[in-house]
Amino acid sequence: MADDHVDLGRRGFLRGQRRAAPAPLRPPWSRADRFTDLCTRCGACAEACPEGIVRRGDGGFPEIDFRRGECSFCAACADACPEAVFDRAAARPWTLTARMAPSCLAMNRIVCRSCRDACPESAIRFALAPGGVAVPTVEDGACTGCGACLAACPADAVTLHPAETVHETVQAS
Ligand code: SF4
Ligand code: SF4
Ligand code: SF4
Repeated sequence: MADDHVDLGRRGFLRGQRRAAPAPLRPPWSRADRFTDLCTRCGACAEACPEGIVRRGDGGFPEIDFRRGECSFCAACADACPEAVFDRAAARPWTLTARMAPSCLAMNRIVCRSCRDACPESAIRFALAPGGVAVPTVEDGACTGCGACLAACPADAVTLHPAETVHETVQAS
């Protein structure tokens, strides 16, 4: 994912565009604000993840790649970390929530319920939008940010965002 971000940012730079690449997604329970200060890039969290979704990203720092699978919130990454990167006492593992881009098949009048079917929390509902098209909406209170819907989407239309930035990122996409 980070490689894509770098390429996209470079392409944008070459075109004279100034939109910043999205911040990388860090493992659950990690202190995102101090991550690069605390993490020594040892790779233990990536090795420990049974889902294989933690990988080395930019600068060797671990990032979540939901294209590889979903987070089961097993906490193996946090348990494997020898540094003070993770805060298991945090109220939530992270604040990620899912959003669907306009490339969503259902939004383009093609029958698809793949994201809803993949969601273990039943957080995705299809509701009629203007024009009589049923489109997916995410119940933020129910979404855990597990990422299962991202890999399931055949149109690559699902992205995960920190809840506190979701409005600006969605508007910018
Ligand atoms: S909680 Fe478990 S599944 Fe999720 S990133 Fe950490 S090790 Fe992987
Ligand atoms: S185990 Fe901890 S210190 Fe090592 S790479 Fe992962 S987050 Fe960084
Ligand atoms: S991130 Fe997980 S909980 Fe949230 S909508 Fe997608 S599948 Fe459901």
